[in-house]
Amino acid sequence: MKYKRILLKLSGEALMGNRQYGIDPERLAEYAQDIKTITDKGVQVAIVIGGGNIFRGVAGASNGMDRVQGDHMGMLATVINGLALQSALEDAQIPTRLQTAIKINEVAEPFIRRKAMRHLEKGRVVIFGGGTGNPYFTTDSAAVLRAIEIEADVILKGTRVDGIYNTDPEKDSSAIKFNSISFDDVLKKGLKVMDTTAFTLSQENNLPIIVFDMNKPGNLLKVVSGEAIGTEVNI
Ligand code: UDP
Repeated sequence: MKYKRILLKLSGEALMGNRQYGIDPERLAEYAQDIKTITDKGVQVAIVIGGGNIFRGVAGASNGMDRVQGDHMGMLATVINGLALQSALEDAQIPTRLQTAIKINEVAEPFIRRKAMRHLEKGRVVIFGGGTGNPYFTTDSAAVLRAIEIEADVILKGTRVDGIYNTDPEKDSSAIKFNSISFDDVLKKGLKVMDTTAFTLSQENNLPIIVFDMNKPGNLLKVVSGEAIGTEVNI
């Protein structure tokens, strides 16, 4: 395996599968199987999960809700997704811990960096819920932050698109995919990989990002093995 410790970022929307809202148990089970394939090979896996399938703070704010209140709801949505993912992983016989950035002690462990790293060393998958614990941030920022903290080798952003293109491939059939691209070029070309806060945090800490299609079973193993199937953002 090319990578020993990875941070996998899954968006909340990815969990919807073909639904319009909520969680598709089949999609979760597929993800769990893919994750099992790599944990069986000794790869240490940490996961940050989004909440966009349930609630986004900006959506609340556009309907007149206080933004911070909405962001708190969004963070709780990521905890709901984290619990669902934990169940799916445990159904696949993967030992798992959920750690949250906001304390919900009866439900999950609080985020403690050293504990998280120890879980990983013991072969447990660690899911980080609650984003960064702060409003006005995204789970992409949480993913980069946690990846740096736990000294992950790479951040794998699993999406429904198979990499980074020069234009939106879902709207433009002539879009061209990059196999690899530098952080600077992403910024110069104005490409959308993550929000700027998350992206620059990754750049400043030399943490490579690989964007790949997580919805194709087997792709996660390919990426972790070093196969160039997505787009790698590097220095
Ligand atoms: N959120 C937040 N702080 C964080 C991470 C998330 O306030 O550190 C809130 C924010 O309202 C966001 C929602 O949680 O809209 C869900 O996260 P995100 O939009 O990143 O989920 P994804 O797009 O990955 O599904």
